[in-house]
Amino acid sequence: MPPNHLSPAATPNGIHRCSILPTYLLRRLALDDDPHVADVAQRTIGFDTPWRERRIVVAERTQRKPRGLVPPDMVRRAKALDAGKRVQVTATLPAAPERSIHDANHSTSLPGQLVRAEGADPADDVAVNEAYDGLGATWSLLWTAYQRDSLDGKGLPLVATVHFDRGYDNAFWDGTQMVFGDGDGVYFDGFTSCIDVIGHELAHGLTQYTAGLTYVAQSGALNESVSDVFGILVKQMHENETAETSDWLIGEGLFTDRVKGVALRSMKAPGTAYDDPVLGRDPQPAHMDDFEDLPHDAEHDNGGVHTNSGIPNRAFYLAASALGGHAWERAGQIWFDTITAKGVPKDIDFAGFAARTVAAASKRYGKGTGVEEPGLRHSRGPARLDVVLPAKEARKDLLRHREHPPDIGGLRGMARQCRAALRQVCRDIHLPVDLRLG
Ligand SMILES: [Zn+2]
Repeated sequence: MPPNHLSPAATPNGIHRCSILPTYLLRRLALDDDPHVADVAQRTIGFDTPWRERRIVVAERTQRKPRGLVPPDMVRRAKALDAGKRVQVTATLPAAPERSIHDANHSTSLPGQLVRAEGADPADDVAVNEAYDGLGATWSLLWTAYQRDSLDGKGLPLVATVHFDRGYDNAFWDGTQMVFGDGDGVYFDGFTSCIDVIGHELAHGLTQYTAGLTYVAQSGALNESVSDVFGILVKQMHENETAETSDWLIGEGLFTDRVKGVALRSMKAPGTAYDDPVLGRDPQPAHMDDFEDLPHDAEHDNGGVHTNSGIPNRAFYLAASALGGHAWERAGQIWFDTITAKGVPKDIDFAGFAARTVAAASKRYGKGTGVEEPGLRHSRGPARLDVVLPAKEARKDLLRHREHPPDIGGLRGMARQCRAALRQVCRDIHLPVDLRLG
């Protein structure tokens, strides 16, 4: 592939470029006393901005042409069998990742020089191997948990470039490949060091090929949140962590010791990840009362997409914790089903997404026991929940399952448990939504 020299005016496909760092953090760094840090941050912003503006995303769905002898519907049904049979399917299908890692040698030419192809021995360069392993871990999550072959479901090769620019303070998915900076070395270490950051960026590719959530306002915050969700799931599967043992931190290890903070974001406790004299305070809200209604322009992070993502992030954490165990199995499956379902509006809001998670749980696990489910009364006024919920049954059910996790095979009980958990989540994040139809 010939080098594709990028100018700030265009991405290879002219659409997506999703960075892990929001501009508001970079702006703070640009004011730093250390001229090296300020210079690096300014260059990063200069490089980012024009692309960010172009990102009022017309995220293209890929063409869905039928391929192969077996009709896609039949393949899908075969893959949707229960977990035990799924393992068999996994073992017999010849899918594998196709990774290539390139070195930009501190230039901005992409993809740069190929330094490690699929199956090749580890390189001498730590960043190369971290990128290779992170891409592999992301591919493994998609394949082993959801039987999806790469981001597009069709084995899309995973391409990454390391050592992009000099001291570049970001990592991003440009619509076709991953790009990693080395960080300024003062506030940020290299961006290949966090497996969840790699998963986050690749998940922007997953969203691009599925729901195509518009990168502005609530759908943009959902786009960001979906990336954090699959980013943390990549890390949890790689470390074999459960909802209970995970730290639920995104970008833990990105900051140097100089920064007062543990990570870029906390899904468990949004708004608590850092509080630093230079970088400021983590601005993420944890519920709708603190939703930031910002202008929908690049100057305001497209309506606060990296800020308001704290709310759906916490929703996922709460759902995964209520359901317990490996978060990629049930909560992750519901979120995966939600973004890969047909007909998701690209500008969907939080309430619409919540309703679709309930619908996805019902579709996957069945309608439950037929017992009347408690509902939430829709409140048009303030963003506070008006609870009809006798919810006694739902709550009792949830509590019982917390103590005695249900048999995975008990799908009907599972449907009820999932729906109850998702309704409770909406109460916890103060999201007014009618989920009775789920
Ligand atoms: Zn992102």
